[in-house]
Amino acid sequence: MTDGSPVSRHVERFDLVFRGRNIMTTAGVIACEVGVRDGVIVAIEPLGAGLAGKKLMVLKDDETLIPGLVDTHVHVNEPGRTEWEGFTSATRAAAAGGVTTIIDMPLNSIPATVNVEALALKRSVAADQIFVDVGFWGGAIPGNKHDLRPLYDEGVFGFKCFLLHSGVDEFPHLDADEMEEDLAELKSFDSLMIVHAEDSRAIDRAPAAAGDQYKKFLSSRPRGAENIAVAEVIERARFTGARAHILHLSSSDALPMIATAKRDGVRITVETCPHYLTLLAEEIPNGATAFKCCPPIREASNRELLWQGLIDGTIDCIVSDHSPSTVDLKDVENGDFAVAWGGVSSLQLGLSVVWTEARKRGIGLEQVIQWMSSRPAALARLIRKGQLALGCDADFAVFAPDASYVVDVTKLHHKNPITPYAGRTLSGVVRTTFLRGVQIDGQVPTGRLLRRGEA
Ligand SMILES: [Zn+2]
Repeated sequence: MTDGSPVSRHVERFDLVFRGRNIMTTAGVIACEVGVRDGVIVAIEPLGAGLAGKKLMVLKDDETLIPGLVDTHVHVNEPGRTEWEGFTSATRAAAAGGVTTIIDMPLNSIPATVNVEALALKRSVAADQIFVDVGFWGGAIPGNKHDLRPLYDEGVFGFKCFLLHSGVDEFPHLDADEMEEDLAELKSFDSLMIVHAEDSRAIDRAPAAAGDQYKKFLSSRPRGAENIAVAEVIERARFTGARAHILHLSSSDALPMIATAKRDGVRITVETCPHYLTLLAEEIPNGATAFKCCPPIREASNRELLWQGLIDGTIDCIVSDHSPSTVDLKDVENGDFAVAWGGVSSLQLGLSVVWTEARKRGIGLEQVIQWMSSRPAALARLIRKGQLALGCDADFAVFAPDASYVVDVTKLHHKNPITPYAGRTLSGVVRTTFLRGVQIDGQVPTGRLLRRGEA
């Protein structure tokens, strides 16, 4: 991409103009010019129209302008566990990865976002240090049913619950009956419940993870535990008529029942994550706890069925579930899967990771961006995000799909230099990112706090 000088023959009608052969609009990838004013896309004209702006950006022929990604599953961990990740580092990583909007999960920060006071604290901590736009999920835990509506009124995008121990004691899980009660409550104001779907009793009865063997860890988190929990979410959503969303689907066994539920009109959506679509249980070295996440990364055959689920529409979107911890807590030295923190760090890498696998399967970039941008935006009901279209925020990434790079952990903005993708060669380079028409420089934080219904 080159910085052009303003075209003086024309009146400067726009703050920013993009020109290029490959601009991914809602009408497809086309040669066009995009005019931005006050952070909003206000003109899309054929290439050659000569739109004039204070700043002109001309795409190189190997670059595609894509809508900024929307990642609805990020654990920022600040305040309280800021040494795991924080708003500055997480949003810098997001911007470097082409992600312009994140929705922060309600747990792993202290306090957890389970009431209005905790939300206010998070907002005040985040306010002056974000490089992309940030919204928040609320949490549904035992005993906070009366906090759900006030949190909704304060702008959370929906509520997360667990059906088994969450990994942190301050965020206890619901049983299926409690989840149903909360679903009924959320139905009364048409909000969304997003669920970590692994069944507590099934996990308790599975063989325990012990030591450095990935195989043992995998058998401690069987597909059956996910399948039972997904079935509970589907049926409780069916009983209540509420909207429910399955987080980080790993078990492909659950796809047929999800497809059936969707056909029946149950209001259910599903996400999966880059790691389930790319990494393989068979290839995870013993002791490699960077790969530990819950639910776990499964076998090659499972991975292929997840891709199939995306292609046939059973799975709606791909989001990172970026859930870092310190290197210490990842137990990198001993490599014990039983004690290591479960969570994969990939916020900065998700687009390249998914694109690398997608193109091998003949899947186009537009489809990938739909899964990673417009669909997550729709999930959170973000109306001005996720699309390069008139009236939308001018959130873009300049992406070079045929360029490649080797993942170097020292170049990641994640606070802790640990990722299962270290040393991998990935296709697709994010060259620069724009938020509401302003290039993100990593120095001046221009991100905004988002509230439901206002973005
Ligand atoms: Zn998560």
